[in-house]
Order: sequence, then structure tokens, then C-alpha cells
Amino acid sequence: MQIKKDTVVALHYVLHVDGDQIDASQDQALVYLHGHGMMIPGFESKLEGMNDGDKYDFKVSPENGYGEFREELIMDLNKEIFLVDGVMSTQVFEGAQLQLSNQDGQPMVGVVTKLTDEHVQMDFNHQLAGKELHFAGNIESVREATEEEISHGHVHGPGGHQH
Ligand SMILES: [Zn+2]
Repeated sequence: MQIKKDTVVALHYVLHVDGDQIDASQDQALVYLHGHGMMIPGFESKLEGMNDGDKYDFKVSPENGYGEFREELIMDLNKEIFLVDGVMSTQVFEGAQLQLSNQDGQPMVGVVTKLTDEHVQMDFNHQLAGKELHFAGNIESVREATEEEISHGHVHGPGGHQH
């Protein structure tokens, strides 16, 4: 069966960035509902039309991956907001990954890139922003999604939601 919108795809993958392997499926295949924005756009569009049993090897540009690196997402934040009882939180150090909320209460994950006397500089770019993603692997199975899966927007059963 061909991969198209509203199919459930099980696949194995290895992801290389700048020649280093940074992620891979484990013993169990990755299972997802195709065409619902669960994967990055470039990954889904390259797999579209492939069949179970197919092998693949392709690259995804940053604009179809995790986006371009944006300088404006590096922000100097007032040190005050990281103080706990007047003392800098021990969770704040260079390289620390922190989750903050923006003005709308949405969570934003960033990495502390620099500490100064007055500011904590954080980078809110995705860690893979600006990177070309090299995926390789094979399609294990493709099946039609059920009505329920489509309405929930996710896969049920093995590798998916158990409810
Ligand atoms: Zn569900």
C-alpha cells in the first residue's frame, strides 16, 4: 500500500546531521499518521507515494525541516526572572535547557548561551534549526487509518496511543 494522507506508516530511520548520527528508531518501528503534520513537512512529502518494503535515503533542507536559524530567537532576558528568593536558580547555567512561558502562556524551550551580570542570554531556536537533515531507512508497513484515528489525529495500538 502507498503512503498517502490518512495512512498509518511504520518505518525505521536513521538521522544524520553534519555527518553525525543524532537519532534513530529503536527495535520497534516509528509509527505515525501520515498527512497530519506529526512529522516535519519535508519528511512526510519525501515519503509520500512510497510503499511498504521500500528503502529510502534523502535530505531535507532547513526550510522543510526545523526552520532556518533565526538570530532574533537569541534573546537577552532580564536576570530578575530567574531569581528564586533573590538568588539565581541553580538550573540556570550555560548549556542548560529551560522551559519558559511567553506572554501568551505558551511554553518555549531554549538553551542558556551566556550569563552576564544583568542578563541571561537564551537561544530559542530548535536545536536542528538551520541544519540539513539526512534521513535513511525503510518502510516497514503502511495501512489505512481508522476513522477514529483520523478524528483523534494520532495512531492507536502498537507504537501509538493505548486508549
Ligand atoms: Zn486516540
